[in-house]
Amino acid sequence: MIEFTRWPDQFARHYRAAGHWIDAPLTRGFQAQVAARPDATAIICGARQLSYAEADRLATNLAARLSAHGFGHGDTALVQLPNLAEFYLIFLALLKIGVAPVNALFSHRLLEMSSYASQISPALLIGARGHELFRDDAFLDRCEGLRLALFLGDGGPQDLKDWLNTPATLPADARPTPPDEVAFFQLSGGSTGTPKLIPRTHNDYDYSIRESVRICGFTEATRYLSALPAPHNFAMSSPGALGVFDAGGTVVIADNPDPTLCFPLIQQHRVTTVALVPPAVALWQSAVLADPGAGAQIASLDLMLVGGANFAEAQARRVPELLGCRLQQVFGMAEGLVNYTRAGDSEAVTFTTQGRPISPDDEIRILDASGAPVPDGTPGHLAVRGPYTFRGYYRAPAHNTTAFDAEGFYITGDIVERVHGGNLRVVGRVKDQINRGGEKIAAEEIENLLLRHPAVQQAALVAVADETLGEKSNAIIVLRDGEAATAMVLRRHLLALGIAEYKLPDRFRFVADLPLTAVGKIDKLRLRQAEFDLQQSRRMTL
Ligand code: AMP
Repeated sequence: MIEFTRWPDQFARHYRAAGHWIDAPLTRGFQAQVAARPDATAIICGARQLSYAEADRLATNLAARLSAHGFGHGDTALVQLPNLAEFYLIFLALLKIGVAPVNALFSHRLLEMSSYASQISPALLIGARGHELFRDDAFLDRCEGLRLALFLGDGGPQDLKDWLNTPATLPADARPTPPDEVAFFQLSGGSTGTPKLIPRTHNDYDYSIRESVRICGFTEATRYLSALPAPHNFAMSSPGALGVFDAGGTVVIADNPDPTLCFPLIQQHRVTTVALVPPAVALWQSAVLADPGAGAQIASLDLMLVGGANFAEAQARRVPELLGCRLQQVFGMAEGLVNYTRAGDSEAVTFTTQGRPISPDDEIRILDASGAPVPDGTPGHLAVRGPYTFRGYYRAPAHNTTAFDAEGFYITGDIVERVHGGNLRVVGRVKDQINRGGEKIAAEEIENLLLRHPAVQQAALVAVADETLGEKSNAIIVLRDGEAATAMVLRRHLLALGIAEYKLPDRFRFVADLPLTAVGKIDKLRLRQAEFDLQQSRRMTL
């Protein structure tokens, strides 16, 4: 069994008694559809259309062969694939035999992948030969305890497609891990030096999916365009592809949210529903404005879910206007809590808030700096506890002491206010993170890497406002006396260390010194203000 921080017994009892935890595996929704509607289309990926029965057959083949190779409960896997049908087939296969995966983003590189590997010691690695990390097998040496690696596009004995396509029978005793054990690990956006992992159990994740499906009205008629990175919590479970499988609908896969790719897919497959981050919504709105014919291409679209980053009211109001569909705002996190605006909400709620929690048992606290609750309409620190909000990062005891309060509330680092009868509005953030169009960057991680360059004495990464992405990252650098380094040199240094490209600072600024707080730490608040002022003055001079 994988060790993780569990919910205390009295909470687990209550979540079961309330019907939130139903002690079923995360494969439940999908398997029910395989039984009920085997011929319905589950996944469309390029020219391939997989029925529920076909998807199940392929996932079972892989599960059976892995099981025959001794994989099962207690094993972990590190999986990295682009948006493809195989992502879901592998996830289902691993769940079937109780192997818990980390699903890394395809944009992750050596540094992130090494960090995940060292945290979970995967017995199994699944990747794509098309990724720079897997052009050869050097990375495999970094994975202590690795017993097998499979690759998309390998062509040899490690070929993933071969393992999916070769008929095999699952042993009668193969089964998912118990419902209150770890099913898989979600990725934390993080604010610390090491990317943290979030253990998710069958019970808690399945509950969040079931309720998301109900709240968003997904049915077997739902045709969902999956255009965000597939492992993101939003794309997986809010209601995400797993919600579509639960409802018996169809997932149409797109590699990315570019309208020139997505609009024809929507038209061709009569897509009804899509989940996007705000910068992608802006792209879609511009595409329709630039070419009214584009509006006709997306005429089948009924519902757009938008979340992951701050969504301006004016832009939200333009969703029905320009894109001809309903808007549902989502404010969620891989750690658990998910909020939605609901169908039938007033315009004020739909366009100016990020909705209310899924569950009556989501306990929300909005606190001032001293830890006292703030009145409605006043911004405060959001802390949460509930039936699908985790109780501890994986193997991170020191960090967990500050990430949770004494009563087990997760301190989200988000600043919100409660408005319009219990809806939350996200107004800011205290966690030291940059939200670059929905991709999260932990400032500390990048600062530590910059400090590894011999010319860098001090480094601070701060968010600056950006019209397209919402936020971008600026690195403010103090060089050592007598040393020289340019932005290009530092960018190359970071790339050579192997970070994902979205984490590269968008801009570098070299300064003589950094403002410090009274206790001698870098004063990020003042720095952010200074960057903001600089940005304003640049705008004025343009
Ligand atoms: P992740 O775990 O990557 O899904 O990121 C979760 C974080 O993204 C939250 O804690 C917020 O900081 C931010 N976030 C998610 N949804 C929204 C939203 N609708 N508006 C503003 N920020 C959001």
